[in-house]
Amino acid sequence: MPDGPGPRSARAVIFLGPPGAGKGTQAKAVASRFGLAHISTGDMFRDHMSRNTLLGEQAKRFVQSGGLVPDEVVLGMVGDRISQPDCQAGFVLDGFPRTRRQAEALAETLRARSCEQPLVIYFAVDADQLLRRLTGRRTCKVGGEIYNIYDLPPKVPGRCDNDGGELFQRPDDREEVIRERLSQYEAQTRPLVDYYRERGLLVEVNAMGSQAEVTERVLQVLGRTG
Ligand code: AMP
Repeated sequence: MPDGPGPRSARAVIFLGPPGAGKGTQAKAVASRFGLAHISTGDMFRDHMSRNTLLGEQAKRFVQSGGLVPDEVVLGMVGDRISQPDCQAGFVLDGFPRTRRQAEALAETLRARSCEQPLVIYFAVDADQLLRRLTGRRTCKVGGEIYNIYDLPPKVPGRCDNDGGELFQRPDDREEVIRERLSQYEAQTRPLVDYYRERGLLVEVNAMGSQAEVTERVLQVLGRTG
C-alpha cells in the first residue's frame, strides 16, 4: 500500500481457503491495519437475509443449505460494494471469489478500473481442524467478533468479551450443512488455488496454530508485498 494518498490504484487482497480456515477472523484483524475495507460476501448475505431484502430472499435457500449463491447474484452485489468510497484504497475479499466465473469477473473488473493484480493469500489448514473450527465457532450478535468454544473461548461463556453481546452459532455451522459447504469448496473453489498459483498471484500461509500466530504470518505477507 502507498503510505499516503497518491495516484496508485486500489489494492485487492483475496483471502482464499476452505470454510473454517479462519479467513473472516483474520480479515477482521488485519484489514483496518492496512487501511483496507473488509468485504465478506457471507456477512453481506446474512445481513440481507436478516433485513429480508430481495437479495436476501434470493440468497436464502442457498446459504441455508450450504450451496453457493448463483454467480449473477454474487457478482452484482460485489460490483456495487467495491465501488463504494471506503474501497478506494483497497479491500480484502473474504469468501469471494468462490468459482472460476467469479474469479474471471473480478479480474475483468480490476482491469477495467486499472487496478493492480490481486494478491491472493491462501489459508492452508488440515482438514481435521476445519470441523473443530466450524462446529466451535460462535459470533457476537452485537459486534460480530468471532470466538471458538474450544480454541478461543470468551471469558464468560456465551458473552462477548468486548461488549457483553450474546454469542450465537451460525445455522449453517450445523454438521449436515457443513458437509455440503465443504463439498462445494472442493468442487468449485479449490480449483482457484491452482488458477491463482499459475498466474503467480498466490502466497500460501500456514493457517494452523493460534489466531495470533496466523495474524502474524498474514501481516508479514501483507507488509512484504506492500
Ligand atoms: P461464508 O460466511 O463465507 O462461509 O458464506 C456463507 C454462505 O454464503 C456460503 O455457504 C454461500 O451459501 C454464500 N456465499 C458467500 N460467498 C459466496 C460466493 N462468493 N459465491 C456464492 N455463494 C457465497
